[in-house]
Amino acid sequence: MPSDPAEPFHLLVRAARRAAHWSQSDLAAKAGCRQSQVSEFEAGVRGKVSRETVAKFAELLGLAAPVGDGVGDAATAPAAPGARARCPNFECPSNLPYWLGGELLFLPLGTAGAGTHCALCGEVLERACPRCGAPILAPGGCCGACGTPLVEVPEGAVADLRAWAEVRRAAAVELRAALR
Ligand SMILES: [Zn+2]
Ligand SMILES: [Zn+2]
Repeated sequence: MPSDPAEPFHLLVRAARRAAHWSQSDLAAKAGCRQSQVSEFEAGVRGKVSRETVAKFAELLGLAAPVGDGVGDAATAPAAPGARARCPNFECPSNLPYWLGGELLFLPLGTAGAGTHCALCGEVLERACPRCGAPILAPGGCCGACGTPLVEVPEGAVADLRAWAEVRRAAAVELRAALR
């Protein structure tokens, strides 16, 4: 079956499994894991199956193996040396909203920290582009490899984007000053 690389891998697994008329138990038995793990994996829950098992799923279903753990895909790939940690949460004050050509982008202020979780909001930090998997090396708002905005406001999450961005800009600037 053709696999769309833009589709999250766990959804590809689910679609391919259904296309093969396998139950979750069938896939679990073939891959050597539990049905509940397949269920959680397909639902996008991270850390439920090992990378080896994810590779098994890919092999059994004839899919290209994912870059990461198959959930969130590239974003969870091991960090490349020099990759920057950034918070993917659009509401996090570590991301400064800015406008460019009518598009709202987010500049990381460097306040998310360098651990596994954001020091400001607790979100899991990303070190690679969620779309193409390229490591985040530059401090800008877009992926240096594919140009995709690294942080986006989900459709319909904010009623008035302009007004919201103004408030968020002020809050981010204030916080940055406070942390200095
Ligand atoms: Zn954050
Ligand atoms: Zn990219």
